[in-house]
Amino acid sequence: MKIQFPALSQNEMLSRMVVSGFLAQLNPTVEDISDIKTAVSEAVTNAIVHGYKDKSGSVILEGRIYKDRIVYISIKDRGCGIEDVEKAREPLFTTGADEERAGLGFSIMESFMDKLSVKSATGKGTTVTMVKRLKEKG
Ligand code: ATP
Ligand code: MG
Repeated sequence: MKIQFPALSQNEMLSRMVVSGFLAQLNPTVEDISDIKTAVSEAVTNAIVHGYKDKSGSVILEGRIYKDRIVYISIKDRGCGIEDVEKAREPLFTTGADEERAGLGFSIMESFMDKLSVKSATGKGTTVTMVKRLKEKG
C-alpha cells in the first residue's frame, strides 16, 4: 500500500485512518491498532512540522504485510532532513521547544513498535521505517 498526500496537519487524521483501514484485513487487537496509529501519527506530524515547516511538500506513507502478521510501515518526506539522527532520537530532544514540542515523538514510536529505523540526509529528507508483529486476536 502506498499513498501520497500534501504535508498539511489536516492529513494527520487521514494517515491514521488509512493505516487502520489497511490493517483491518489482519483483524488486529484494539491495542495493536492503537499503538500503530499513534506511531504513524507521530512520524507524519514530524514530517509536516519539522520536515517541511511552513513549506509545502508531500508525505509518502507505505504499508506492507509480511507473513506471521508482521507489519511494515514507512513515512517519507523530502523536507529539510535531520542533521544528527542519534541525537534527535534521544528522549526530550527537540528543536521545537518554542512551539511547545516535548521531544517525545521518536520515543513514542520506539516504544509502540518493535523496530524503528530513521534514515535522513540534510536537505534531502527523512524516511522513518517501523515494524511490528501483531498479536493474534484473542
Ligand atoms: P513531540 O513529538 O514530542 O511533539 P518533537 O517533534 O520535537 O516533539 P520528536 O518527534 O522526538 O520530538 O523529534 C525530535 C526532533 O527530531 C525534532 O525536534 C526535529 O528536530 C527532528 N525531526 C524529527 N522528524 C523530523 C523530520 N521528518 N524532518 C526533520 N526533522 C525532524
Ligand atoms: Mg514529534
